Formats: sequence, structure tokens, C-alpha cells
Amino acid sequence: MIYYIVVLLFLGLSVAIGRRAGCHYLCWMAPFMILGRKLRNLTRWPALHLVAMPERCTQCGRCVATCPMSLPVSDLVQRGDMEHDECILCGNCVDTCPHDSIRYRFSSG
Ligand code: SF4
Ligand code: SF4
Repeated sequence: MIYYIVVLLFLGLSVAIGRRAGCHYLCWMAPFMILGRKLRNLTRWPALHLVAMPERCTQCGRCVATCPMSLPVSDLVQRGDMEHDECILCGNCVDTCPHDSIRYRFSSG
């Protein structure tokens, strides 16, 4: 019974809100991930993150369409700062961009 309630909850949320609704609104790990990211930013520990090269971006929108978290990736690229609390670093935008405007980097800051 509990199983079906949970499945119905996720299904209902997905239909009402869209893909990854569970990740956005139900994931119990999200607060820890956000906290970890803030701590990393505060301490400037070396970590994996995304870097943007706005001068290469043509605003084609492919990264927005492919982002599983429905983030405004193109806008993040334009402002030159890919930091977003809900980014899960899946790399879809990195793989999708035809102009190599987004890259992974492991560094501090
Ligand atoms: S896919 Fe690349 S070129 Fe297209 S909007 Fe995104 S960052 Fe810009
Ligand atoms: S890494 Fe994944 S979640 Fe983060 S902006 Fe790119 S596509 Fe979206």
C-alpha cells in the first residue's frame, strides 16, 4: 500500500509540475547537497563545477531543453556564472552544447 502511495505521489507530481518533480520537491538529499555546495563556495575548496564561456554561446537553447532540472542554462551561460542550487552536475548541457560554451572544471573558487 505504501509503495503505491509513493508511486502515485511521484506520478501525480510529475503530471502536475513536470519532469523531475520529485527531485525538485521531495528529494531528502537536496538540502544536504545545497548545504555542501554553499560550504564549498564559502571555503573555496577545490571541487568539480561548471564554467561558462558566454562569448561562444549563440543562445540556441539546446542546453535548456536538455537540462533534467529545467534550469535556465542559457541565462546562466550569459551571466558567466553557472552556479545554481539545483544543478546536479549531470553534464547534459556540457555534452549538448554545439559550441563548447560550457565545460567541467575541477578547481577552487
Ligand atoms: S547549447 Fe550552448 S550555444 Fe546553445 S544556448 Fe546553450 S550554451 Fe549557448
Ligand atoms: S549540469 Fe545538468 S543539471 Fe546542471 S545545468 Fe547542466 S544539464 Fe542542468
